[in-house]
Amino acid sequence: MMNSDITEITISQTKLSLVQGDITRQATDVIVNAANSSLMGGGGVDGAIHAAGGSAILEESRRLVAERGLLPPGQAVITTGGRLKAKYVIHTVGPVWYGGCRNEAATLASAYRESLKLAIEHGLSSVSFPSISTGAYRYPLDEAAKIAVETVVSFLKDTDTSLREVVFVLYDGRTYRAYLRALGETSERL
Ligand code: ADP
Repeated sequence: MMNSDITEITISQTKLSLVQGDITRQATDVIVNAANSSLMGGGGVDGAIHAAGGSAILEESRRLVAERGLLPPGQAVITTGGRLKAKYVIHTVGPVWYGGCRNEAATLASAYRESLKLAIEHGLSSVSFPSISTGAYRYPLDEAAKIAVETVVSFLKDTDTSLREVVFVLYDGRTYRAYLRALGETSERL
């Protein structure tokens, strides 16, 4: 029987949990932004992070894009958190959903993995993720939730990590419930 009531599991020494809420209010060391390749801000969670964190985030993002060009889907960069509680923001670009035949699943998994790698490279101990690609980028929610949870769980199983806490911060009830189902399924196989 699948357990959809689990809201957290522990993998090695890292707690992975689900909460419903606004990621801009999270006090983890870093929050992840579902950005677009220009890093110039946008709607959804991206707009909320820039609005709450202030112009320092945009200034650093602009400098990064000037140095290295547009950020390809599946990759990640880190900036200050500006006025956010989180000290840093990791900006990653998820795939736009085109029906599933453009490697969307691999790109989505990469966005989560590259974000985790960057957090570890910076010696951070806690990170919050939004539901990447399931808003404006239209990735089907249940599939995206499954990839998100499975990717983070297998990364934590396979990697020696400074991370002690990973939180999925889901904005609306429908998204939260999809991640609950995904965590229930994944935890049965652990
Ligand atoms: P994408 O372009 O990657 O699809 P969106 O920002 O459009 O990104 O949507 C991704 C998810 O982020 C959606 O589930 C949306 O409801 C959610 N979201 C929007 N604002 C916030 C917020 N402040 N905190 C957490 N999640 C948010």
